[in-house]
Amino acid sequence: MQIKNFLLGSILLSGLTVSAQRKSDTAFMLPETDPAKTEVWSPVPPVVTPAEETFVKAPSDAIVLFDGKNLAEWVSTADQTKMAEWDVANGIITVNKTKGNIQTKRAFKDFQLHIEWRVPANITGSGQGRGNSGIFLASTGGGDAGYELQVLDSYNNSTYVNGQAGSIYKQYAPLVNACRKPGEWQSYDIAWTAPRFNDDGSLKSPARITAFQNGILIQNNAELKGETRYIGQPTYSKYDRAAIKLQAHGDKSEPLSFRNIWVREL
Ligand code: MG
Repeated sequence: MQIKNFLLGSILLSGLTVSAQRKSDTAFMLPETDPAKTEVWSPVPPVVTPAEETFVKAPSDAIVLFDGKNLAEWVSTADQTKMAEWDVANGIITVNKTKGNIQTKRAFKDFQLHIEWRVPANITGSGQGRGNSGIFLASTGGGDAGYELQVLDSYNNSTYVNGQAGSIYKQYAPLVNACRKPGEWQSYDIAWTAPRFNDDGSLKSPARITAFQNGILIQNNAELKGETRYIGQPTYSKYDRAAIKLQAHGDKSEPLSFRNIWVREL
């Protein structure tokens, strides 16, 4: 009787071990759900105060994406048959959060991009919820799909460093914090090399970015690990040409503005 119980116990135990093993295999396969796992909090990039701004006007060969007049070069990301519906007044675009992301009508590959942005002086909120927007150098789908250079009020506003202004979102912190204070205009000058793909969809060469904020180098030929993701690891997915997209972030803070946007195809 004792031997029989012992055997029965062993069988039950080994069964439990197998099922526990299966459970952990399954857990391993489940997609990541915790956004905090890809946050990096140190080292904090040093603050560099930019010199007096010299905003760069579009050169002769640029495609002007916004010259202060209208959104004729832009459509709604959610419905690309619809014109972009952000607010244009006094020569600037202000994000309309109820209308979602907007993107260029044209598709691009490699380019130089100039764009100016301003966090409003009356901005409230903290961390990622303070003047959040973003510039997607390539929009590879709806929503926030693509490759985001972060726009945020990072002037005396702490957040994970790979999510502050000038970061390649959740991949690279900026080399320095070159932010101006809310209420002042800032510029990004970006050189973007699109990723290249093989016929079978595999990656041939990664995307690269060099970027300046207010004339200061913040990304130096950084090699992207894939599309920027809020949750989980970046991966690449084949595309050829893509729109440039601006983010209407869902946070509750006051919307920011853009002006003087132009691109030179390379
Ligand atoms: Mg953003």
